[in-house]
Amino acid sequence: MPKSDDTLDISDLIDQPLPGPSLTEDTASMPVVDRCGEEDGSDSEEMHFKSNCEKCKAAQQSSEYEKVTPSKTSKWSFLVKLEGEGTYECSATGLVFEVSEEAQVCYSVLSWSDSFKFLPVSWRPAGSIWNVEVVNKDSSVLKFIHFPHSLCLAEPEHELSFSVLHVKDRHADIEPMVDFTASHVKWRVFSLCKVGPITKSQRVPHHGAVLVYKEQGHQEQFCFHVFLASNNKSEIKAINKQLLSSGKKFINIYNSADCTLEVKGYQLTSKPEGEVRPRRLEFRAGAAARKGFFEVIFENSICKFS
Ligand SMILES: [Zn+2]
Repeated sequence: MPKSDDTLDISDLIDQPLPGPSLTEDTASMPVVDRCGEEDGSDSEEMHFKSNCEKCKAAQQSSEYEKVTPSKTSKWSFLVKLEGEGTYECSATGLVFEVSEEAQVCYSVLSWSDSFKFLPVSWRPAGSIWNVEVVNKDSSVLKFIHFPHSLCLAEPEHELSFSVLHVKDRHADIEPMVDFTASHVKWRVFSLCKVGPITKSQRVPHHGAVLVYKEQGHQEQFCFHVFLASNNKSEIKAINKQLLSSGKKFINIYNSADCTLEVKGYQLTSKPEGEVRPRRLEFRAGAAARKGFFEVIFENSICKFS
């Protein structure tokens, strides 16, 4: 957990009960492609976690929108059937759709690693980036989309600035939002393609996720990769892509969304002492898969897993 003194303690992370099945010889031998695969179709691992930020809860009203459950067309893709004019919230992703008539909407999580290059220097991701389509009629029936964002708005003294990045073929536009709440950014749909909320507010903390992956195949030592990411699906997908492209096998052994991350440096400490590289890692929204991670190495005798 990130602490007030800006240090993380790896023993805090790995000593806690692991979510889902415990790490046994069976699960330990599964490669990352099995548990964190791109399109494996299995749903054994939920890759997005609701933020437990106590500070924000007071500001978040429970939405009055009709909840709809989508069908999953792949690990990162969803299809929802909206019955008629109204405002609907997807129970799996938190996306909210306002439609003028019945519509079927298909949407998939994109990785920020593919769209980061379209962001001007002063802008940062503020949530997931999506590919949204109306599949059974003209897209003009979809009037507004409310994107979940990852900013912590508990400290209102920060100046806030949201927009939406709209990627079209080989270029992207920054389009204005309509409104925002403690949890969502509302955008008027003119045309559809790749869209996601962004922010210029560099100092506002993000609801964060700490993800720990264990490298497979070492007999003599344990090697972990510890990522600090904004808590959104596109960042987690970017991390998955990076791990898959490393040529090594990883399993995801711990995830936490119970933290707030600020734009500054963090250190990771371990008990017992492990080899931690780098000594200090800067958190920046959208950069988890681009700027690296803590690599932590323990000798064989130190770590115990059950
Ligand atoms: Zn918060």
